[in-house]
Amino acid sequence: MICLIYIYVFIRCPGRLSMANFTFQDFQRLSADPDAYSALRAESKYIQSSPKIISLPCRLQFVRNVKGYFYLGFIVFTWAYNTYIVPEIILLPQYYEGNIGLVPVLCYYAVSLFTVVALFRSVTCDPGRLPFDLKPTSHDQLNWTHCQRCLIQRPLKSHHCSKCQRCIRKMDHHCHWINNCVAEDNQWLFILLVLYAAILSIYTLVLDTLHFYYLPACQTCDSTSFIVKHQRYFMYVSFVLGIILTSLAGTQVLQQTINIITNLSTVESIIHARKPIHERPAVIPRSAYDSFREVCGPGPILWWFNPFRRHSAKPEIYYYQHTV
Ligand SMILES: [Zn+2]
Ligand SMILES: [Zn+2]
Repeated sequence: MICLIYIYVFIRCPGRLSMANFTFQDFQRLSADPDAYSALRAESKYIQSSPKIISLPCRLQFVRNVKGYFYLGFIVFTWAYNTYIVPEIILLPQYYEGNIGLVPVLCYYAVSLFTVVALFRSVTCDPGRLPFDLKPTSHDQLNWTHCQRCLIQRPLKSHHCSKCQRCIRKMDHHCHWINNCVAEDNQWLFILLVLYAAILSIYTLVLDTLHFYYLPACQTCDSTSFIVKHQRYFMYVSFVLGIILTSLAGTQVLQQTINIITNLSTVESIIHARKPIHERPAVIPRSAYDSFREVCGPGPILWWFNPFRRHSAKPEIYYYQHTV
């Protein structure tokens, strides 16, 4: 699945990825050509005058992208469908008839709540967008790369997102499923989202299977109600949605774990994969704890699983600090 995604991105965005190697020296060379430079200025002005980011109250932000609306709508529908149908058909009737305890019911609602909180915050937060008037120090200029679209210099590991039309600090990738970039300030939320979504969808598949093969039929349910009459078909849809979400979320849990431990973003992995093996930078081994601590923040490990907490990025490594 990951290889297929890489191949897809290679085919779709070769030009965008080549910009990641655009240095300040490249920019100075290009600036010497008046025609090329005026074209860059015109494109940069267009990007700044037609922002893709919609600002909402309470510091919430949303990316204007029709494709993203479709993918995000599917995720929200899947969550809402299973959160309503599974308790309505399986959990609550079986609990009222004494076939299961209260704990499985509360666990299902808790995981569902954690999933939707992580989803809402991943979608609406600023993942680490760099301002258009960014002014680095002279020391920064030596190491920072240059964006030929925003015409700014930016910290290492920043990349330009063509969907958001902005440079993003420590960008991992733009995710259509959350209609937002995954980057320095929301990667921890994205990891929680895919983790809880995977748990929720696997839990749903287990309950659906138990409903079909193990749990007794509901005796006290109103057999004339629409949901009870058509529960078999509702369960089929729930099962299919559960399989799709398990595949999507499970793939991302694996991908993000590899990215964090190797300290390589998805974008960097794609760029490095295009180079000969001897030109690829060596992966510096780090412990899993140190790797996840850098992304998830300080505090006990259990605290990392809390999607309600506030989290600050590490200011000594990356230039800007924002609290999400
Ligand atoms: Zn840019
Ligand atoms: Zn983006």
